Amino acid sequence: MDRSLRVEDKIMKAFEKNIRKVEPYVPGEQPQSKVIKLNTNENPYPPSPKVAKALEEMDTDRFRLYPDPSCGPLVEALAEFYHVDPEQVFVGVGSDDVLSMCFLTFFNSDKPILFPDITYSFYKVWAELYRIPYECQKLDEDFRIVKEDYYKENGGVIFPNPNAPTAIYEDLDDVEDIIRANQDVIVIVDEAYVDFAGRSALELIGRYDNLIVVQTFSKARSMAGMRIGYAISNPMLIKYLNDAKYSFNSYTMNQAALVCGVEAVKDKAYFEESVRKIIETREWAKGRLEELGFCCLDSSANFIFARHPEYDAKELFEVLKENGIYVRYWGSERIEQYLRITVGTREVMETLFEFLNRYMGKGECL
Ligand SMILES: *Cc1c(COP(=O)(O)O)cnc(C)c1O
Repeated sequence: MDRSLRVEDKIMKAFEKNIRKVEPYVPGEQPQSKVIKLNTNENPYPPSPKVAKALEEMDTDRFRLYPDPSCGPLVEALAEFYHVDPEQVFVGVGSDDVLSMCFLTFFNSDKPILFPDITYSFYKVWAELYRIPYECQKLDEDFRIVKEDYYKENGGVIFPNPNAPTAIYEDLDDVEDIIRANQDVIVIVDEAYVDFAGRSALELIGRYDNLIVVQTFSKARSMAGMRIGYAISNPMLIKYLNDAKYSFNSYTMNQAALVCGVEAVKDKAYFEESVRKIIETREWAKGRLEELGFCCLDSSANFIFARHPEYDAKELFEVLKENGIYVRYWGSERIEQYLRITVGTREVMETLFEFLNRYMGKGECL
């Protein structure tokens, strides 16, 4: 019998109304073939050579055992790096895990949480997953956060700084104004890209007990594949986070990630050099894009958000893809003419510009 024609399949089953239905986050593509990958803001440089060495020397007999649920050595390495107490550090499986745990733990008000209309699209997904009411606040016409929009009554606030996918960094004084105006709720600053930008809100942790700063190893530390993220706050909020985590799954971080994470944090010089190179390439790439007629937002991240007044973004996105160059395109309201281009190595960016030059008729024919 043709199953697709069975009548009972077309009727909504009684149990369906009790199923949690979600519209998941759509990540950038991860093609397995060799392409120029400028679509998910990964770091073009490998992690510290100390990470490779630690992996080589790893005692795989440890894999028999559960990893340390408190992630002790990694928490301590981060505490030392940021000059905070280990009780102020929470780690998770990428900052997506950390952020999701924060939503679950801290956003339980009947009032809506607030975040920008153009921002990391996972916020909306978690709010819906956990049934947290939310209200998006419009960025202004220059894609800046309007801080006064966050002064109204709410159930919590979250925004990235620099914002994604605009790459715009808001001054720490403005971030502080938002935190100060919201001392009855939790404010989360998602600093996935702050190492490429400027001052971190970490310096405000001691002054505001409603502040949580979340960062990741995926971007500046070249370890997206290892899945490590962390939150830094005061010991009370970190304890609440740990209580939620231990009620869910105590062993979130695997043994290899814990060991590699420690090595990555310890190699400060390598990390700083990698960040320096990316910033240098970003500034140069921005100049090249502008020569080609692109309008770029002022980027403080490892990617550039740009549009071209004469070329349709979707067409550009598709033609780039056909030619093995992947960038990110959303086509959603207000940003339908923008492409997000991750900053790769200088050589990779040269390949991108060579293609664009030809395509836009500024070089030899295609
Ligand atoms: C990349 C990114 C994250 C998540 O990164 P993880 O790989 O899960 O650590 C979080 N927030 C923003 C704004 C990001 O761009």
